Amino acid sequence: MTKANNPLSDPARQSQDTRLVHGGTDRSPAGETSEALFLNSGYIYPDSAGAEARFKGDDPGYIYSRFSNPTVEMFQNRMALLEGAEAARGTATGMAAITLALMSQLRAGDHVVAARALFGGCRFVVEDYLPRWGVTSTLVDGRDPANFAAAMMPNTKVIFIETPTNPTLELVDIAAVADIAHAHGAKLVVDNVFATPIWQSPLQLGADLVAYSATKHIDGHGRVMGGVVLGSKELIEGDVHTFIRQTGPSLAPFNAWNLLKGLEGLSLRVRHATATATALSNALADHPRIERVFYPHHKDHPQYELGKRQMRGGSTMLAFEVKGGQEAAFKLADALAIILISNNLGDAKSIITHPTTTTHQRLGEEVRLETGITPGLLRLSVGLEAQEDLLADLLYGLDQT
Ligand SMILES: *Cc1c(COP(=O)(O)O)cnc(C)c1O
Repeated sequence: MTKANNPLSDPARQSQDTRLVHGGTDRSPAGETSEALFLNSGYIYPDSAGAEARFKGDDPGYIYSRFSNPTVEMFQNRMALLEGAEAARGTATGMAAITLALMSQLRAGDHVVAARALFGGCRFVVEDYLPRWGVTSTLVDGRDPANFAAAMMPNTKVIFIETPTNPTLELVDIAAVADIAHAHGAKLVVDNVFATPIWQSPLQLGADLVAYSATKHIDGHGRVMGGVVLGSKELIEGDVHTFIRQTGPSLAPFNAWNLLKGLEGLSLRVRHATATATALSNALADHPRIERVFYPHHKDHPQYELGKRQMRGGSTMLAFEVKGGQEAAFKLADALAIILISNNLGDAKSIITHPTTTTHQRLGEEVRLETGITPGLLRLSVGLEAQEDLLADLLYGLDQT
């Protein structure tokens, strides 16, 4: 019996945790253990006819790292296995991934329906950039699928959602919204950063494209920027690949190599941080200085049933509103010894953010309040520190409010 006959040689037979360590690995003749870092922009051909064959597409080899590189390809293949997608393309940042997912599917005259609770940059692309290219949009309250159905127009080509949303962890029913999109011949694009591929699989729920900022949990150590778009072979190898090839929002090989290392520990990290986030949300919900907590798998979440149905875990992110508004929120954050004040998320280090004065400042008060972003709201990205230390840090901070 040879290794090739071993059923486990087929990644389809492997468990997700195994694929996160081995999936997509393509060893060079040197036989390196860890994935090789191909820090090269170009590739050479055996002869002129060989170059011609590559450019004609008769030979599938590499041409130029703007659109294909062995290290980037290993990352893409590992991500596709994790997501259960036919294909994937890496990008320079998460915003490049979102822009790519949208722009590759749209042209002048089209219309987009998006949930109004979107990551700041995503909302800017939809509200401020798309109209410059003749693409109109309607923003709706994403909590009720009927709002998407009501906003559909004959020229709607894309529905774009993020769930759970940043920062209030509202949920959008992916399967219901996918049905609405498809009934109108539109595509559903999902930004899955907050859920992570460990807890939520939008493609299995009917989405057409899923996009990540790999800068967050996938890197997980606050090192590099990156993004990824996943979907069917037809969409990814067609519109998405062509857009990257011709416009160049490409993932750097060095960053892809870091992201491959990040994926090896992704499941362990996300499970650990989620267990901590669950414990913290329970402890904070009962605290007298806290108005309310926002956590998808907490029983007080208004969409708890949906959270249980479409997410296998409650996320590493939570938010809470402290009594006493911005002043109390600042006092709490400023008193913390372990949790850092920053705007990143998905890091090994726990991070606290005051959305009103930072990430969501640009939106203006009216839009902020409409999406639940009150002055007392704090968003917490739970890291890998000991649960008891994080809880003690937060309780100390709350005592200062
Ligand atoms: C961070 C983030 C992005 C943008 O990703 P970058 O890597 O920072 O460009 C998009 N969507 C969500 C939900 C994010 O958290």
